Amino acid sequence: MDGSELIRFDRVTKRFGDNTVLDDLDFSVSSGKHVTLIGPSGSGKTTILRLLMTLIKPDQGKIQVDGECLTHENRGGKLVEASEKHTREVRKKIGMVFQQFNLFPNMRVLRNITEAPVHVLGLSKDEAEERARELLDLVGLGNKCDAYPTQLSGGQQQRVAIARALAMRPQVMLLDEVTSALDPELVAGVLDVLRDIAHTTDITMLCVTHEMNFARDISDEVLMFDSGRVIEAGPPEKIFTEPEHERTREFLSAVL
Ligand code: ADP
Repeated sequence: MDGSELIRFDRVTKRFGDNTVLDDLDFSVSSGKHVTLIGPSGSGKTTILRLLMTLIKPDQGKIQVDGECLTHENRGGKLVEASEKHTREVRKKIGMVFQQFNLFPNMRVLRNITEAPVHVLGLSKDEAEERARELLDLVGLGNKCDAYPTQLSGGQQQRVAIARALAMRPQVMLLDEVTSALDPELVAGVLDVLRDIAHTTDITMLCVTHEMNFARDISDEVLMFDSGRVIEAGPPEKIFTEPEHERTREFLSAVL
């Protein structure tokens, strides 16, 4: 947790057709910090995570992860378009948990978690399994190693997905409304696990969430989005109790 800048968006613009979804956006996340993106639906929050995952490319601006640019690389002193290899290396620094858990249905829980560490990181099967068991304990599912995803509740599947992302030892976790596909009674268990991870590990987190109490509990900084711009940013005590912007007040009164 050295406080260095891990993620940086520098004047990033993203358009879909003539819809400008992110408009000249600047923000950064320091190593070890937990930053939460809030704001109305359609304000561009998920687009930020998808840009970081290189699922889409910015139209303008620069995105850096741990000092490496996502779209360009330095080759022999020249800045050239990033190769697939470069992009893959940068992406290894990032873990993502989606709304839908996307577990491999034909694999038992343990193998869901060990598959990428073995094939992508080159860990031995034994090392990967030892780490997977530790992570399953961390998410409260130490007794589910041999289950298939369909034998688990949605909340349990999401906790496996969290363990699977952590197994790649990412420097930053992106969390995209990870409880929004869950039945209401399963939400708390998943948020408790994430709170625990936020408070007991030094992993950097960038979360999109509608769970304002969760955001308040784990965030070092909250960014309020509206129409592709950050209209207000600050520590949760400030944003949730004394928001400055009228739009933030309106949004919070609608969701709190
Ligand atoms: P949020 O996460 O804040 O709800 P999003 O980042 O998902 O917002 O979406 C922002 C805007 O971008 C929305 O208007 C959405 O319709 C549009 N959008 C997102 N992805 C695409 C896409 N692949 N093609 C066209 N429009 C898109």
